[in-house]
Amino acid sequence: MEFKDRKVLVRVDFNVPLQDGGIADDTRMRAALPTIQYLINQGARIILCSHLGRPKGQVVESLSLRPVADHLSSLLGKQVAFSSDCVGEVAKTAASQLKNGEVLLLENTRFHPEEKANEDGFTIELASLADLYVNDAFGSAHRAHASTVGVANKLPAVAGFLMQKELQYLGEALAEPEHPFVAILGGAKISDKIGVVDRLLQMADRMLIGGGMANTFLAAQGFDMAESLVEEDAVTTAAEILKRAGDSLLLPSDLVVAAEFDEKAEHKTVAVGSIPEGWRAMDIGPETVRVFCTEIEDARLVVWNGPMGVFEFEPFAAGTQALANAVAECGGTTIVGGGDSAAAIRQAGLTESISHVSTGGGASLEFLEGKTLPGVAALLDKKT
Ligand code: AMP
Repeated sequence: MEFKDRKVLVRVDFNVPLQDGGIADDTRMRAALPTIQYLINQGARIILCSHLGRPKGQVVESLSLRPVADHLSSLLGKQVAFSSDCVGEVAKTAASQLKNGEVLLLENTRFHPEEKANEDGFTIELASLADLYVNDAFGSAHRAHASTVGVANKLPAVAGFLMQKELQYLGEALAEPEHPFVAILGGAKISDKIGVVDRLLQMADRMLIGGGMANTFLAAQGFDMAESLVEEDAVTTAAEILKRAGDSLLLPSDLVVAAEFDEKAEHKTVAVGSIPEGWRAMDIGPETVRVFCTEIEDARLVVWNGPMGVFEFEPFAAGTQALANAVAECGGTTIVGGGDSAAAIRQAGLTESISHVSTGGGASLEFLEGKTLPGVAALLDKKT
C-alpha cells in the first residue's frame, strides 16, 4: 500500500499485563514496533487502536491506555499523542491534526460495548478516522470485533508485519511439519485444549503432556490424584484421547506434590500413583523432566503451549524451567505460544534461542487447532 500522506488506522495488541499502574511486560508493544516504525518512515499519519483487559463496555480508569501511550513514546523516541476516546469528536479532532510520521493512540476500544458486538454504527465511526487499515493484532485475531473485523470490511485493509510473522511461523511449521515433531502441552485445564490435543496428535510424533492438564489424563488411567486439580467432566474425553493416541502421548511418571496449594507448602517428589492423601500435584518430577527433555533434544520441530506446573511458585517452577532450557537448546524449529510458557521463556532470558515466541495465547491455540481466525479471514477476503 502507498501510505504517504494517508491516515492509517492500525489495530495493535497492546493488551499488556499491568502492575501497580505500570506496564509489567511490554513484549506485545515491542512486537508491534516494526509496523509502526515502517509507517512512520513511509510518512503515514498513524492512528493506533487496541483493547486492554475486560472493561465490559464501560469506562474503567485502571484500564486506560494512557500509560501505554507514554511508554510507547519512550520506545519510539518520539511523542505519541493520546485521544481519551476511540470515537467521537475528540478522536476525530486528534486524527485530523496528525502530520506525516506522527502517531496517535486511541483510548481502549472495549470502553464501548459496540466493539465486542462488532456493531455497524461504531465500526463506521472508527473507520471514518482513517483512509487505510492495518491489522497487526495477532493476539486478537480470534475475535470478530469492530476493530479487528468490522473496519477491515470498511477500509482498504492489509496485515502488519507482526501478523505476517505469526502466520508464517505457525502456518509454515504446521503445513509441512519436520519430523520428529514434538508437541508439548501444559497449563491448568484440558477442556480449553481438547481441540489442540486432537489436531496436534494427528501431526506430531510425540505429545508430552504436563501441568494440571496431565492430572485429568492420569485420573483417566485410574491413578488416585488425591487433591490434585482434575476436571471430572473431562475424564471420559481424556480416556478416549489416550486410546486414540497410543504410544505417541507421554504423561508424567513422577510428580512434585505439595501438602497445600501454597508457595511455602511442604513438598516432595513421588511416583505417579503415590500421592499422599490430601496432597496435590504441583509440577512434573525429575524423572519425567529427563524423559521429556530426551524427546525434545532430537526434535526437528517443537510446539509448546502451557507450563508444566504451578510455575508462579518458585518451588514448583523447575519442570517448566528445565523444559524451557531444553527447547532453547533444541536445534530444530521451536515455537512457543501462550502467555505462561512465553513468560517462562522470557524469565529465563531464552527468547533469543527460540525460533518464534508467539504474542497470541488464545489466537495461537485456535490457529493450532486449525480454526479460521476471523481477523485473518477478513484480510484474506479483501481484494485491495
Ligand atoms: P493455562 O492458562 O491453561 O495455560 O494454565 C496456566 C496455569 O496453569 C498457570 O497459572 C499454572 O499455575 C497452572 N497450573 C499448571 N500446572 C498446574 C497444576 N498441576 N495444578 C494447578 N495448576 C496448575
